[in-house]
Amino acid sequence: MTERLYYTDPYLREFDANVVDTTTHEGKAALILDRTAFYPTSGGQPFDVGTVSGARVIDVVDTEDGRLLHVVDRLPDGDAVKGAIDWTRRFDHMQQHTGQHVLSAAFDRFLGARTESFHLGADYATIDLGRDLSAADVARAEAEANRVVWEDRPVTIRFASAEEAVTMGLRKESKRDGTLRLIDVQDFDLSACGGTHVARTGAIGIIAVSATERFKGGLRVTFLCGGRALIGFRALRDTVAAGVRALSVLPADLPAAIERLQSEGREVRRQVKDLQGRLASHEGDALAASAVDAAGMRLVAAALAGWDAAALKTIASRIAERPGHVAVLVGDPPASPIVVARAADARVDAASLLRQLVQRHGGKGGGRPELAQGGGLTSPAADVLQSARDLLDS
Ligand SMILES: [Zn+2]
Repeated sequence: MTERLYYTDPYLREFDANVVDTTTHEGKAALILDRTAFYPTSGGQPFDVGTVSGARVIDVVDTEDGRLLHVVDRLPDGDAVKGAIDWTRRFDHMQQHTGQHVLSAAFDRFLGARTESFHLGADYATIDLGRDLSAADVARAEAEANRVVWEDRPVTIRFASAEEAVTMGLRKESKRDGTLRLIDVQDFDLSACGGTHVARTGAIGIIAVSATERFKGGLRVTFLCGGRALIGFRALRDTVAAGVRALSVLPADLPAAIERLQSEGREVRRQVKDLQGRLASHEGDALAASAVDAAGMRLVAAALAGWDAAALKTIASRIAERPGHVAVLVGDPPASPIVVARAADARVDAASLLRQLVQRHGGKGGGRPELAQGGGLTSPAADVLQSARDLLDS
């Protein structure tokens, strides 16, 4: 059994140990030491990294049979080794984890919202609460938690038997037997936990809730403590600064400025659509003047550059308002839209004509006898239009 030095001294960064066994874990070399300061992934807290006599520790695993594996990039020389944990990573985990105890206790004490689970990720941590809360309630718990942080209360490690613990008023009853390791945030929270924590709440720095979302009938609370809160603040500051520069407004006016831009954008799009419609009508009138006789109808078969499918439909419909007229219009690749429209009295089925054209020239489409449209033609427009003339003449 490995002596877990972090249980009693979470501030221990370097230690001497002996290799008692070597093995492999998922194809990589792994060491078992007689004692270690390396924390293995458990209880929502990720593993430590660092070195063992120069070998890099890339994972630390608590196995089901109680062994503690240091997965390394190579085996160190000799059995007497020196371990060193990456303190920046570890201290960050300690800030987040202790912050979680304080925040969970605040939700529990002031709002009766129990923490169902905790996850400490690479960028942020989350707790899942058993019930939904209003934004004001979340802000209240956040304020109470920070009050405890700034009171700089001691955070101590205690040990008690499972039977003793029952009478001690743990925030959450433990399912473990035997000796429990308890984390005591003075006069605020007592929880059974095997993780690593800071020695005083002041070292958490700050607890900032960055987001909440409803989750499984409760509330998932995302939060940042200490150094992560500063990193998060900087990211928000830079984002806001970029927005402020782009829109030339004060930070507090950003939401209103964005709403104004959106509203202006909608109005401009409406105007463009209106103008396009009117322009398309003019285009339709101009094209109708170039109609030729074909099988007793007046045919406009044209390739039009710079119009989308909706505009082609407007132009074709405009042409087909004239008695006896049929329009076959083809747009630009790569969309290569096609529209076939006919006047009410023209004896041609637009949908049938379109179907025959896409059969010959690729693409797809459909519609009604008076108006059909499609796209994705793979032949040159001139070939498609020639086919249309041939089909109408036959
Ligand atoms: Zn803990």
